[in-house]
Amino acid sequence: MIPFSPPRMDSKIVDEVVDTLYSGWITTGHKTKLFEKKITQYAGHKATLCTSSGSAGLELMLRWFGVKEGDEVIVPAYTYCATANVVVHCGAKPVFVDVNTDFNISVKAIEKAITHKTKVVIPVDIAGFPCDYDEINRLVSHADIKALFNPYTKVQEQLGRILILSDAAHSIGASYKGNKTGKLTDITIFSFHAVKNITSAEGGAVCLNLPQPFDNEEIYKYLNIKSLHGQTKDALAKVQIGNWRYDIIEPGYKYNMTDIAAAMGLVELERYDRDMLVRRKHIFDNYSKELSKYNWAQLPIYENNDKISSYHAYLFRIKNINEKQRDKIIQSIFNKNVSVNVHFIPLPMMSYYKKTGNNIKNYPVSYNNFSREISLPVYYDLTDEQISIVINAVLESVEMVFNP
Ligand SMILES: *Cc1c(COP(=O)(O)O)cnc(C)c1O
Repeated sequence: MIPFSPPRMDSKIVDEVVDTLYSGWITTGHKTKLFEKKITQYAGHKATLCTSSGSAGLELMLRWFGVKEGDEVIVPAYTYCATANVVVHCGAKPVFVDVNTDFNISVKAIEKAITHKTKVVIPVDIAGFPCDYDEINRLVSHADIKALFNPYTKVQEQLGRILILSDAAHSIGASYKGNKTGKLTDITIFSFHAVKNITSAEGGAVCLNLPQPFDNEEIYKYLNIKSLHGQTKDALAKVQIGNWRYDIIEPGYKYNMTDIAAAMGLVELERYDRDMLVRRKHIFDNYSKELSKYNWAQLPIYENNDKISSYHAYLFRIKNINEKQRDKIIQSIFNKNVSVNVHFIPLPMMSYYKKTGNNIKNYPVSYNNFSREISLPVYYDLTDEQISIVINAVLESVEMVFNP
């Protein structure tokens, strides 16, 4: 069986993890702090806080901004549930909007969905392809949109407009007009979950890039406290001689990253551009080269004049088929010992989000994308021979459905 996206594991990662295990310090410490610095250097934003997951990072920043009951947060209908669940955790309402044929959130749909209750927009760089950040950033800075904004916390007042919290769980290393994700908007969240481009098993990062008058370094210091129970000293500071006394300034969260996770992340990030991204692009290029020979194939766009993907997931569609036919093709591909996937089942199709008043009929592009979509395996150790096996499995399966 060709798996879908196993993590890349080798002796470099094992050695770095073992080094941490024997170092006497396994939770948040020097390696986490170093990983934060490296992420900041890599993406070019202003400061980074590592967290226990991408979801934890998203929720932490919604809470930092003061999102609560009565607020609305605009999210794409086409995303993983984490993007919307964190909004629900805060007591606010996720307002779903439709996407474009490139799978990313529609800026026009955002504009229509904004009300005086809107506090945050969470664009998601689906499959690693950056959203239209210039248009999104411009939209929330527009005078008419700003006039609708109704701040009631100090940070909301300081920003004076809707916050853009980018869900870049897929897109570390991607770029838009020459800048990497992390510095494309106010705040960006990376995920280092096992299936993501860079993994630490579980983990995430909050990239701070807030405009004046915010002091990103000060916010970083505060977020360290907020992500550790509101405790004024972390465990590392407390082990300094005589430095035992601390205070709790608020009932914070327990969202810190461990040094075991950071050890894996450090190895992954160090070789990411020259090694991991090169391999992933190679796989994308090969899939596109082969599939472009067929009229029925709708290939994903992963590079254009402005944007370069992080090649996270290869989302291809088949023209003029319905959901049932797509499901049949997937079953057939699995029967040929190739694992594929669908990214994503739109959230308005999920029981909880249906129950809370959402209907997929209002998101025609999301449904159309979903109903014809199949994600192919992309991972570091996928060999050229396996790429051919995947493509043949797809071709035979599509053929079978078109000519039964
Ligand atoms: C994986 C993922 C997340 C959450 O990341 P975790 O680190 O697993 O919490 C958020 N958004 C999207 C789109 C994702 O795919």
